[in-house]
This record gives sequence, C-alpha cells and structure tokens, in this order.
Amino acid sequence: MDVDFDRTLRAYADLTVRIGLNLQPRQRLLIIGPIANGGVSLEAAPLVRHIAAAAYDAGARLVETLWGDEEVLAVRFKRAPRDSFDEFSTWLPKALIEHVEGGHAVLSIYANDPDQLKDESPEQVAAVQQATARGVRPFRELISRNQTNWGVIAAAASSWAARVFPGVEPPRQVSRLWETIGLLCRLDRPDPIAAWETHLGELAARTDHLNRKQYSALRYKGPGTDLTIGLPAGHLWVGGLSVTATGIRFAPNLPTEEVFTMPHKDRVDGLVRSSKPLSYGGTMIEGFSLRFAGGCVVEVRADRGEAVLRRLVEMDPGASRLGELALVPHSSPIAQSGLLFYNTLFDENAASHVALGAAYKFTLRGGEAMSEEEFECAGGNVSAAHVDFMIGSAELEVNGVLPDGTIEPVMRRGEWITTATSA
Ligand code: ZN
Ligand code: ZN
Repeated sequence: MDVDFDRTLRAYADLTVRIGLNLQPRQRLLIIGPIANGGVSLEAAPLVRHIAAAAYDAGARLVETLWGDEEVLAVRFKRAPRDSFDEFSTWLPKALIEHVEGGHAVLSIYANDPDQLKDESPEQVAAVQQATARGVRPFRELISRNQTNWGVIAAAASSWAARVFPGVEPPRQVSRLWETIGLLCRLDRPDPIAAWETHLGELAARTDHLNRKQYSALRYKGPGTDLTIGLPAGHLWVGGLSVTATGIRFAPNLPTEEVFTMPHKDRVDGLVRSSKPLSYGGTMIEGFSLRFAGGCVVEVRADRGEAVLRRLVEMDPGASRLGELALVPHSSPIAQSGLLFYNTLFDENAASHVALGAAYKFTLRGGEAMSEEEFECAGGNVSAAHVDFMIGSAELEVNGVLPDGTIEPVMRRGEWITTATSA
C-alpha cells in the first residue's frame, strides 16, 4: 500500500473518531454498513482497521464490525425463494438496540454500488427495503433521538468508483475516488481536525441565524419546481454538530455542508423536480417530479425508476409526505467538484434537498420528549422511510415567509443571500 494512501486513510479514521463520533473513553464502537446489503463492504477493510486503531487510541473498550458483501446479496436475488424477500432476522434489531441503549457509538460506512440491483424486480427490491426499514425502525428511532453518538461516512469501492469515474482507466478509479473523498473531507489540509472545527463553527452561525428568523414557510423556485413548504412553530435548524442525550457533541455526517430542519407535514404544496438522480434500493430513479397538495404526494413522474419511486411513496402513509428540508449553497466543495456520486452522503451536500418520510425529532423544539402522536400533531412526519432527494442547483431561488407575512430572499442562484454572523 502506498504511503500517501495510508496517510489519507489514517487522517480519515482520526477525523471520524475524534470529530465525527467524538468517541468517549470506555465506549464501545459498532461499525456497520447498509443493513439491506448485510453490513460494511469488504473493500472498506483497510479503512475499518484504521478506525479500530483510532478508536482504541481514544479509549474504546471494544470495536466490532458487521461485515456484508454485495456478491452475497446478488446471490440472494438469483437463488432465494421468490416469496422470501420479506425475511429479516430478529436478532439484528435486538443487538443494535442493546448496543445503543448501553450508551455505545455506531458508525455506518457506505461503499456500495448504487446500481447493483437495477436489473432485479422492483417488487423484490421493495420487499427487501421494506423488511429492512421495518426491522430497524426502533433502532433508527433511537438514532434520530441522538440517544448515542453515531456517524455515517463513505469508503471508496471499485463498483462505486466505476460509476463516478467512468472515463478513468479501471485500475485508477478507486484511487481517484479516494483522492476525491480526501479533498471533500478536507484531509489535504495541514490540520484537518482544525479545518473541521472552523467549518462546523460557520455552520453553527448559519443555523443560529435561521433559528432567530423562525420563517413560517419557505418558497422554492427553480427549473420544474414551484413549491411552498410550511415550517411548524418551534422548528429547529440543525447543521454540522449534534448533541446526544448525555451531552456528547458529535458530527454525524462527514463530509457535511447542509443546514436542515423539518417541514410541517400537512403544509407542503406545489411541484418539485429532482435536480439529480436518486439512488434508492439499488436502483437509479432519474428525472422525477412530485406534486404535493396539503402535504401529501398526489402525482409521481419519473423518466426512469418510476415503479420503485411509487412503491417508496406508498410504503406507509408517512412515506408520501416530507420529513426534512435542507439548504446547501451551490458553492459547496462537493457541488464545485462537479461530480455525481450516486451516494446520498456526498450528493446531498452538493445541493439543497428534501426527504420523503420520517422527520427527525431533534428538528423540533421539545420534539425528543414527544410521543409519536404529539409529534404528528405538531407537524412532524412519522414513517419507516427517510429518503433524501436533491432539488438544488445554480438556478434555485428560496424565499422565506416571516410569521407576519413579510417575504424576504434566503437564496438566489443557489447561494445564501446574507452572511450569517454569530450573535
Ligand atoms: Zn439532509
Ligand atoms: Zn435526510
């Protein structure tokens, strides 16, 4: 392994453990991957080993990994009984919950081929997605309450790298993707940890500014988009850092450029068009639009993957409503890379987006203490799904509607209109 590459992996592992998870002495760390794929791709092994080393250096008591393999998933789709795709183990959800309730940290590493299941039947892909979503719902619920410090990062893998860099010679694709991840995670800086502390401070100033505004709605205009999203009273803008129930400050997504909050589930109206393809359930959904009335999707159109998109929207009542809206300036380093990653962790930081499905309770004042019914009454969306899709571009305009009806510009040509200052 070449020295530079090893140094990049070590810097990424340090950043993940110290800034991402802010792993505390005596915590355990569980490293997982996409649950539907079975766990962390074997190609991520060199990074996982560096993360384990960084975790023990930070005082971890035990580091465990749940490994998965795309080929094993491919074999399932080829050979498993046709009526078995809703099978899901009961031990895994129990183990995940026991780990989180014990106060231990969780890290997800994504390195999967976004197009892996494109030739499989949408019914079977949807069955696997739904069984997984249902099975891990209580775990996801604890994570969405920030019960413990958790994180999501990505690792380069050959099939994914081939999608991002189709014009590069195959032997060079993975190293190109690693170099890019390094740049976007600021690992090329002399002191990546300090660079992240500065960046996270800037995101905090932006969320403070928006939280003082308390807009009652945002209005979006862009190519194919004319959408009003109502914001509930007490909505909280969040970005960069989160805090666990026990007071640990952590940065769940690396890289992260977004600030986000929750929409009012019943006050979304108009038409929204995706600005990038969505990789969902191993299928690419491209060129799609959704029309909303009274918060609910009433029309679905897609150039490609429409059947999978329809099944997502019909998964449960909450899957046809929005649970997140996020603003990302078009000047973000990921947008500037000009690359399409087919991976939400990166692409969502390249563009403003919204999510179908569950709202995060921590994006509402007092939300974490609310029952599901109370949260829904306050405008929070409840669902087994949470799927982001991109709507931002260099042409997006966003206006904020103040509680007294005054309208003011928030974004023009995809950029923030004012500089946030911490007050
Ligand atoms: Zn987001
Ligand atoms: Zn999201």
